[in-house]
Amino acid sequence: MRDRLFESHFTTAMLSFSICLVIIFVIVYKYFLTEYVAELREEAAWMSAAVETNGTDFLLNASREMQTRITIIAPDGTVEFDNENLAENMENHAKREEVQKAFAEGEGESIRYSATLSEKTVNYAVLLANGTVMRLSRTQHSALYLFAKMMFPIVLILAVAIIASAVLAVRMADKITEPINKIDLDTPDDRDVYEELRPLVRRITMQNKQIYMQMEQLKEEHKKREIHRREFTANVSHELKTPLTSISGFAEIIRDGLVKPEDIPRFADNIYKEARRLVSLVEDIIRLSMVEDNEIKAEKSVVDIYDICCKTIDILTPVAEKQNVSFTLEGTSAKVCGVYQMLEELVYNLCDNAVKYNKPAGSVTVKIDEEPECVILTVADTGIGISDENLDRVFERFYRVDKSHSKEIGGTGLGLSIVKHSADYNNAKVAIESKLGVGTTITVRFMK
Ligand code: ADP
Repeated sequence: MRDRLFESHFTTAMLSFSICLVIIFVIVYKYFLTEYVAELREEAAWMSAAVETNGTDFLLNASREMQTRITIIAPDGTVEFDNENLAENMENHAKREEVQKAFAEGEGESIRYSATLSEKTVNYAVLLANGTVMRLSRTQHSALYLFAKMMFPIVLILAVAIIASAVLAVRMADKITEPINKIDLDTPDDRDVYEELRPLVRRITMQNKQIYMQMEQLKEEHKKREIHRREFTANVSHELKTPLTSISGFAEIIRDGLVKPEDIPRFADNIYKEARRLVSLVEDIIRLSMVEDNEIKAEKSVVDIYDICCKTIDILTPVAEKQNVSFTLEGTSAKVCGVYQMLEELVYNLCDNAVKYNKPAGSVTVKIDEEPECVILTVADTGIGISDENLDRVFERFYRVDKSHSKEIGGTGLGLSIVKHSADYNNAKVAIESKLGVGTTITVRFMK
């Protein structure tokens, strides 16, 4: 930044200086040229008056003291008089610009450069009363020549200007960058900097606060995650250990011949049930970690939720019939945007629970309602219901209202956690209402 500031200050200073130099030179040069022509005019005025009264002889004496060349030209262009050359040796002047103008308009001027461009001749011609033209000429150094002559002082001034500009540019760059470099980015104080830097310092302070808050938030989230992870690991270990202990216990007493042969099928059935429980537990854990980590990579698509309900009811009807529970499906086809596999699982878990925690001769009503801004899925059962103190906790992982009952019917305590996560992922909100001994209604609102 310092280098760039230096560069721009230095370039600006040098550019301004050079432009000023050229402008001053041109103005001074033009001024002297105008003055020069004016002098020639004045001379021409009084000389023409003198020639008209005294004739050209007067010119011979007068021109000796002057540096001006005087030429008298007849209307046909012949030179009648010239104070520097013999008139008869001179070529015809009819074509000279200033002479032509003087014959046509009464006066005329022109500038002619020498072959080397180092000199120029300023000519002024005036028409006299006798019909001839008197031309005065003076030779002057050209701008180029003057510039070349002035080269040494110009270079000297330029060198001084370069040094002065460089020193000033360095100082200026330092003055601007030093306070910036001195800003303490961790705890900037707007009293330490100049006015223009204060908004920047305030923004840094604000951003520091934001970063600090975000860091705190992240730390907090990290802590929570860590607690969840530990809880989850402890729960999983516990949930896995229970059926495994039963399995190894049953197997051990069979191995030691402590079970009567007629009791072996019962023990084998127990081992099978515990093993099945383990399988479904592991499956639920895998599913839950997948939805929690958003690992189900399937694209969201338009899914007919009514269609999913039909299929789920078809699968669960045989199970429900065994418990004498009936299914009813209400509503019509309704489209929601989501991951098919997740929505299928969500509906299955809700309907499965409605059957599992139902009463004999109970019923399950699945309903689809479409509203302008959402599609509502309701799964209502006439089952055992959930008490108010348990209602808030049923979505927690491994939470079961009645552990032994849930275990008996093959529950893992993960079904509603999976429902909650799937709903969140698919832009839906879950609500639960329940009355102990009367039934439970779970509503999933899919936002459009
Ligand atoms: P589980 O695999 O044990 O069913 P869930 O997470 O699906 O686990 O449910 C958590 C607990 O919430 C269940 O153990 C049960 O006590 C209660 N629950 C869930 N659904 C219902 C329902 N429809 N009626 C009564 N209780 C329910």
